[in-house]
Amino acid sequence: MINLKSVLDKKTESKLSPLQRRQVLQGIAAMSVGSMVLPPSFAHAARLNRITDVRMWTAPDHTRLVFDLERNTRHQLLQLRNPNRLVVDLMDSVAGVDPATMGFSDPIVNRVRSGIPRPGIIRTVFELKTGIKPRSFFLKASGEKPPRLVVDLVRVEGKSKTPGDQPVSHDRTASRDAVVVIDPGHGGIDPGAVGLNGTKEKDVALQVAKRLARKINSMDGFKAELTRKGDYFVSLRDRVSVARNHQADLFVSLHANAFRLQSAKGTSVYMLSEGGKPSPDKAIRRLEQRENSSDLIGGVKLSHVADPTVRGILMDLTQRDSLNRALVYGKKLLGELKDTPQVNIHFKKVKQAGFAVLKAPDMPSILVELAFLTNKREERLLRNDSHQNALASALAAGTKKFIRATGLA
Ligand SMILES: [Zn+2]
Repeated sequence: MINLKSVLDKKTESKLSPLQRRQVLQGIAAMSVGSMVLPPSFAHAARLNRITDVRMWTAPDHTRLVFDLERNTRHQLLQLRNPNRLVVDLMDSVAGVDPATMGFSDPIVNRVRSGIPRPGIIRTVFELKTGIKPRSFFLKASGEKPPRLVVDLVRVEGKSKTPGDQPVSHDRTASRDAVVVIDPGHGGIDPGAVGLNGTKEKDVALQVAKRLARKINSMDGFKAELTRKGDYFVSLRDRVSVARNHQADLFVSLHANAFRLQSAKGTSVYMLSEGGKPSPDKAIRRLEQRENSSDLIGGVKLSHVADPTVRGILMDLTQRDSLNRALVYGKKLLGELKDTPQVNIHFKKVKQAGFAVLKAPDMPSILVELAFLTNKREERLLRNDSHQNALASALAAGTKKFIRATGLA
């Protein structure tokens, strides 16, 4: 049995029944995109399949992929074009090795990525140099050899180049786009910050959000949803509900800042603080108060877990996992914003604060203060079409990099 002491404090851990332990382990297996590789005892304890090795063989007319498993498990293949990719999902599995670290030189496969798109699914994405026809089959354990999933990528010439994204799925639970929920701050009776020339935060946030949504929707494998599409009030709770209903993979809230000194300027990227605690920084605390206008957020996606102890532990761990991912996401956004013309960076690092709209524990959530409306130059920029576009491009690029790195799309 795995030692849960590495993730839980001693007191909590010692009180768990064997069933509770297993439920916690299963919950953990569903997280941890950043630290995918789990020890053998882990999969065993959670009763999941564990991928122990992945290999690639090159034949003249095809390339063969072999996944070594601990037990037979469901899988699905999804073929995507423009660019050509084959997605292999192994269900009810954890990774004992990271498929993306496999070394190879192959005439068909260009690059391998991996990730956890949904709880308990290990996804490997093969980026291809050419059109293929995939076929797959299971091999039972024999002698020294473990159960294996074999996937052949059979080269097809010419014909495969036809455009159109017709996914070829072997399973009804076909893969879906990565869903990014964009949240334009404020709206309706709540204007948010107001600039020196009367520019309202709610308006610029919506304009940039719409541009960002268009860019994300034009990216292959991505879908954007907005928490509001016009000038009306949406409670913070409802914003998070929208994200939940769409099963968002990412949540990004867009705002514009204000300060009593006109000299304050720049873009900042925020994630939730540990436990949603208020920031020790006075200026950030004032910002928290403004952004947390009306309501508190409750409820988690773990409602299927009946045991309150297990649910509490998993909620805690889920939040920790989401925070880890939000940090990675925030860094990608900052990296892109830094390289955007006219953009000043206010804080060089992803800042933590107690923003209520970031409190959904089950998805990485980020809040971006695009610029200061109380700074003359930045207010003008925020109204400018091409600058709004540049901001949206940076945010789209950072989103794409984050999602690609997790193998989700
Ligand atoms: Zn705001």
